[in-house]
Amino acid sequence: MPDEAKLKQELLYMVKLTEKYDFTNRQVVDGILRLENERQILTSVFGKRFKDRIFDIAYDNASNNTCVICGQEAENGVICQDCLNRISHSAYASAKAGETEHDIQTEVKTKKKIHFLSYFKYVLLVSLALICFAQIWLLYTFHTLPDHNPTQEPYISDKEIVAVSDEESALAQLQLDYSPDDGYDIISLGPVVELSGLFANEVGASATEIEENLSDEERYDYFLIEEAYKFYISYNDGVSIKLGLAEVSTQGNIIVKGDFNDLRDPNAFYRIR
Ligand SMILES: [Zn+2]
Repeated sequence: MPDEAKLKQELLYMVKLTEKYDFTNRQVVDGILRLENERQILTSVFGKRFKDRIFDIAYDNASNNTCVICGQEAENGVICQDCLNRISHSAYASAKAGETEHDIQTEVKTKKKIHFLSYFKYVLLVSLALICFAQIWLLYTFHTLPDHNPTQEPYISDKEIVAVSDEESALAQLQLDYSPDDGYDIISLGPVVELSGLFANEVGASATEIEENLSDEERYDYFLIEEAYKFYISYNDGVSIKLGLAEVSTQGNIIVKGDFNDLRDPNAFYRIR
């Protein structure tokens, strides 16, 4: 990406963060900076100033309240109203907003098509092979079936998405899917900040795969953060044991990782609701 476009994008990202978050909240700022450490999105002189400033604000260290972009006085102590207006209403910002939406729609369509075609060939081959082996397999194994563990499909919740305001209501929502009556035990691990993108993924999709394939444009929104409640889930029916983590966002979306999806990556988050 050319330097100028990268800088414009970076400034827009800083404006989005400033409009969205309260930097006096240490948990929020720690979350932003931790992600920034991993992703290195804010790398210009303005980006570096921005990171220093929000850290100072969160840790009551801020000694000046000038705009990190233009140097004028900034009411919020980070970016002045002039710069906020200029950047968020710039031709660049509106172009990006339209473009991103268009890109995502096109990409989703293309992906679905490719997905379908490659899977179609695959399914055809596998079906042929299966037909050959199916009868033999049935003859020799049907009487041992009761001893097999059933294979679990990726779990997708059929419950409604309900916003939660605290740990208790988050737990109640999670228990609709993982009920104590069904043998699930849930322990609360408290509030956390988590990537917005994880909660916006398609239901049933692997977050790891999606993160690896994010475009530069998509990363900016994916790595915004939001508040969530984290839980440890265990299940033990005497035959099988399943362990995992779940997070419920304040908006009511739920992601899980662990042994709850057989044959899927236990280290990846999957959105279930
Ligand atoms: Zn300014």
